[in-house]
Amino acid sequence: MERDFPVEKIRNIGIMAHIDAGKTTTTERILYYSGKIYRIGEVDDGTATMDWMVQEQERGITITSAATTCHWKDCRINIIDTPGHVDFTAEVERSLRVLDGAIGIFCGVAGVQPQSETVWRQADKYRVPRIAFINKMDRTGADFLKAVDTMRTRLAARPLIVQLPCFEDEQFTGVVDLLTGKFLTFSEGDEGSSVTEEAVPEHMKGEVRKYREQLIEKVAEEVETLMESYLSGKEPSLDQLKSGIREATIAMKLVPVLAGASLRNKGVQPLIDAVIDFLPSPADIAVVEGIDPKTETKELRKLDDSEEFSAYVFKVVTDPFFGKLLFSRIYSGSVKVGAMVYDTQTRKKERITKIMQIHANTRMELPEAHSGEIVGLVGPKLAKTGHTLCTEAHKIAYGSINFPEPVISIAIEARNQAEQQKLEEALQKISDEDPTFKKCVDPESGQTLISGMGELHLEIIVDRLLREHKIKGNVGKPQVSYKEAVMEQMSGQGRVEKEMGSKRLFAGVTVEIFPTGRGGGFEFHSRIRNSNLPDDFINAIEEGCRDALMVGNLAGFTVIDTGVNLTGVEYSETDSNEISFKMAASQAVNTALQSARVSLFEPVMLLEIVTPENYLGEVINDLNSRRGRVEKLEKKDCFGIISASAPLSELFGYATGLRSRTQGRATHTMQFGYYN
Ligand code: GDP
Repeated sequence: MERDFPVEKIRNIGIMAHIDAGKTTTTERILYYSGKIYRIGEVDDGTATMDWMVQEQERGITITSAATTCHWKDCRINIIDTPGHVDFTAEVERSLRVLDGAIGIFCGVAGVQPQSETVWRQADKYRVPRIAFINKMDRTGADFLKAVDTMRTRLAARPLIVQLPCFEDEQFTGVVDLLTGKFLTFSEGDEGSSVTEEAVPEHMKGEVRKYREQLIEKVAEEVETLMESYLSGKEPSLDQLKSGIREATIAMKLVPVLAGASLRNKGVQPLIDAVIDFLPSPADIAVVEGIDPKTETKELRKLDDSEEFSAYVFKVVTDPFFGKLLFSRIYSGSVKVGAMVYDTQTRKKERITKIMQIHANTRMELPEAHSGEIVGLVGPKLAKTGHTLCTEAHKIAYGSINFPEPVISIAIEARNQAEQQKLEEALQKISDEDPTFKKCVDPESGQTLISGMGELHLEIIVDRLLREHKIKGNVGKPQVSYKEAVMEQMSGQGRVEKEMGSKRLFAGVTVEIFPTGRGGGFEFHSRIRNSNLPDDFINAIEEGCRDALMVGNLAGFTVIDTGVNLTGVEYSETDSNEISFKMAASQAVNTALQSARVSLFEPVMLLEIVTPENYLGEVINDLNSRRGRVEKLEKKDCFGIISASAPLSELFGYATGLRSRTQGRATHTMQFGYYN
């Protein structure tokens, strides 16, 4: 298959920002200037295109990772929306996994806010090269150099200033590009659509010379080819300088920094240029690592069309027109409409019926898609977020992201029979989209329980039920999800021999359950040798094991961090089927659970609290009274930053308490840490 678009011209990027730094405003401008939208929506009047879920617009935070495609010059830019709220860390990590580069947006007045550190550190972990945009330069008190300095002190980043903001009579007028030595201004009245290059204003000449020299020196230090000419006193050409910066950025040695004010339509076009000039294309990332699902050994794929097809599903959304839409990054090979693909996690083959290029909420159908692209796939019914799609002949799994088990649940009740069915359907949709959300029916009370990763997570889900599905259920009080885990290896056997009507069911399964350690999650390994048991039966056995671990033997809580080895099977050609294997597997695990030593665990949350120093004592006292433990205390610019852990059962209503204790001045993030 020929590709219509060269891979070198693709950029898959994310935009990372602390809430309110201007991510939405900037993204809107990028889409507008690149001709993707015809009107600039404003966050403040709730019309921004990217935040397409109503409650996001109201809350002003971006929760879903929608992806959108636009074109700039001769390049294609896929923007993957990276959520900024730490309660959704799993989503942030999944979107970082499929990005090749990112823009970090910071506020020109506040600089790097302490809580931006979390996302920045995650991007370091996934080795995502970045450029930075210091936004809101029009605001009184904006200080570009100070903001750049906070990148050094708070993020331990190595910023490279490539632009300087320019002011006339204290008004922000435009930016000077230190590479070209041109002063860029942005038209008024037509949303800043045209950019004019002018000579550098007289009052800035000295500063521009100084920072350009610094820039050349810094790049030369990192890039060998430039070092030689630098030492011989030769001024590098524009192209040499650009490619030097690109090399150092991709190697994560430097972070180019630009300035602007998105809301005033200033500085955005040069930012898009910088995405193209400095951030990597998929071709700059030679190979990607996964595992061979059979041997569980490392498996590499070249990011190339000549390789076998493989893709990673980083987000599933239920679309009103197409049903299940799988936001996917194609790593290798290509895929055509009509192709059968193999899902490594479900071990099933399913057909791709549509391939979509995605703008926030309009879609364009494509006949095929190639390595390096980010597209929406339609067709596979069983695929979920975190699954890998590939060919049956060349299987690969891109890290089975172990989704954390939900830590908090609430009961939700439909108000009448008619609503009950709507509720069930809506909850199914949400759980397809969000792997950290679960629903179940409490066997004792018969109530529907929904579980998630924190109070805010569940609040948003209840909100979605009301807004998207018009269901106003009765909601109970949040309950902590305790867990059980096995402490020793134990084997168990299950056997099913049953007559069902005229049919006989037969299957026998022997398993070994074992602890996988804190955070180890569920594992399943088939250790049976020389058996030609079909994959479908192995899947049924795995499913039976998972089901059995949903309800522990100690107090009926989910059993976590426990693995299962399948060590033996008995089967008959005529009477064994998926159902009998599933039942036998559940029995086997239950038998093993009954004899094994099992302990009870409670979820412990990790908190990061940023508070003005004068409230520090009070905040810490309160944490102590909640069985909390302060792990680290730092002081920065009159603020105290507390890293702490505390049991979730003591943290209900923490947000409200903190607010009233500090007159609304402290902020915090909370995420699940571990079970203890
Ligand atoms: P997000 O939470 O990072 O997506 O930030 P938004 O794009 O929603 O912006 C947060 C607030 O900052 C909104 O009220 C914007 O109007 C405002 N804002 C964004 N960019 C600028 C800017 O360049 N200058 C000023 N003065 N305000 C801005």
